[in-house]
Amino acid sequence: MQSPDLESLTPSFQPQNFLVLVVDDLRQNLKIVGTMLDEAGYGTTFSTSGPQALERVQAARPDLIVLDLMMPDMSGLDVCRTLKANPEFREIPIIFLTASHRQDHLLKAFELGAVDYVTKPFSSAELLARVRTHLELKHTRDQLQLVLSEVQRMATIDSLTGVLNRRCLFDLAKREFERSQRYGSVFTLLMLDVDHFKRINDTYGHMVGDEVLKSLTQAIQRSLRQVDQFGRYGGEEFVIVLPESPLNIARQVGDRLRTISSQLSIPTKTDPISLTVSIGIAAYNPQDKAVEDIFERADRALYQAKAKGRDRCCVWEEVDGSTAPVATT
Ligand code: GH3
Ligand code: MG
Ligand code: MG
Repeated sequence: MQSPDLESLTPSFQPQNFLVLVVDDLRQNLKIVGTMLDEAGYGTTFSTSGPQALERVQAARPDLIVLDLMMPDMSGLDVCRTLKANPEFREIPIIFLTASHRQDHLLKAFELGAVDYVTKPFSSAELLARVRTHLELKHTRDQLQLVLSEVQRMATIDSLTGVLNRRCLFDLAKREFERSQRYGSVFTLLMLDVDHFKRINDTYGHMVGDEVLKSLTQAIQRSLRQVDQFGRYGGEEFVIVLPESPLNIARQVGDRLRTISSQLSIPTKTDPISLTVSIGIAAYNPQDKAVEDIFERADRALYQAKAKGRDRCCVWEEVDGSTAPVATT
């Protein structure tokens, strides 16, 4: 998605950037309104019936519609109703331009989602002012929507690697935890940490260190399922949540990730970099009070993996009635 810059939220208004569809069964009316809009600098396109208007909307994607109310085949109200029922076109502002002064028509038009209602005979200055106001409003709303999407994206994504950030990971793990509590399903959590990453930074510099984190992230992402949640937990530490997966599956995934990581060869200006990772694994346990309990077990298993010499997975599992982290590789 294109990132909105804040200046574009209050742009100078340029009519030539907007396309207005004018719909009227009388060509003479189309000509009057069309000429007026043309002279004001707008792009224009025309339809002489309701069905044709719906086709034009599909093909031309206008920014605003000036719509006649009374037309023989399909009334303007029906055109409006059809467009508002379609999420793709719902946001296009519709201004009714009509000879009808009937209160029920006016109320129906607004009820169906029209933004304005202008009766004939109309002053061109007034119609132009209304067209401009609604285009500006629509434009500002679109820009705000873009900014909002960008803010939402930034709130969930780690900017260096593009995977989920710590907060989002934690929220997703919490949701998984609640699901397990409710339905008795089991999920597992892997905590992965790059071994001796500080050495990579010290030898090649922080920038190369960043590239290594990106390459590792991509390699891990490629080897996971769509439903697995993968994110950066901090510095050179990552977390993977495997929904509906018991420990034996998590162990296989852990071994696979360990192998993939150790097979990476990341080119630099000098010699290529290789690395290893240590992984701590823990599963949901019905006795857990909170999702933090699982993070803590995975963290302790990771600590064991480091203590036992790194480049290995350690699983927190029950042995002889007591639980402890057990190294698998
Ligand atoms: P261990 O095997 O015990 O995990 O050793 P380590 O060197 O990987 O662990 P340590 O915690 O001592 O060092 C982690 C390093 O990761 C230190 C920190 O500067 C670096 N780091 C953290 N975040 C980033 C980052 O975004 N980019 C880069 N390039 N380095 C980072
Ligand atoms: Mg008519
Ligand atoms: Mg490390």
